[in-house]
Amino acid sequence: GRMEPTDLNAFIKEYTNLAFHGMRASKHPMNVDIKFLLDDKVGDAKLIREDFSRVLLNLINNAFDAMRTKKQNGSPDSYLPKLMIRTLRSDNQVTLEIEDNGPGIPEDISEKILQPFFTTKKGTEGTGLGLSITRDIVEAHGGTITFQSSNNGTTFSVNLMAN
Ligand code: ADP
Ligand code: MG
Repeated sequence: GRMEPTDLNAFIKEYTNLAFHGMRASKHPMNVDIKFLLDDKVGDAKLIREDFSRVLLNLINNAFDAMRTKKQNGSPDSYLPKLMIRTLRSDNQVTLEIEDNGPGIPEDISEKILQPFFTTKKGTEGTGLGLSITRDIVEAHGGTITFQSSNNGTTFSVNLMAN
């Protein structure tokens, strides 16, 4: 694939909706409250679209998996999985944030989650390749990926150079 100027907000909406519909049609559908907070100033980003779509799908599917785990592990009935997708434009950067209200990433594994083949998922549910591929793709776009996590959830941030 090659880099093509892409309306980042539209691209994000498209792939978030694709991930949501895929999850709803899967063996483990779940209700999720999805909110978009998209900055109009974000504009176009140069993306290898096929690759960057995997970044979104990986991060969103990880969020769904995390929130499903929380739902299944004795959280109160009032627990409603929530996904927040945010974009922000600053002087020279564009930031994409994917925030879930899942269980968070335990401190003792946070150093490992980006490594290839590290997974906490059972059997064939996880390959542990998602985040390492995600980081490779983000870096191939000249960007960086970071995350913050607590008991209340996790936020992954992808930073790209603005046009
Ligand atoms: P996989 O999804 O196949 O397990 P990934 O590389 O995508 O592999 O993720 C590695 C691990 O990082 C997951 O197994 C999980 O333990 C942890 N993880 C990733 N995203 C989240 C998240 N949003 N909330 C909690 N844990 C996460
Ligand atoms: Mg994954």
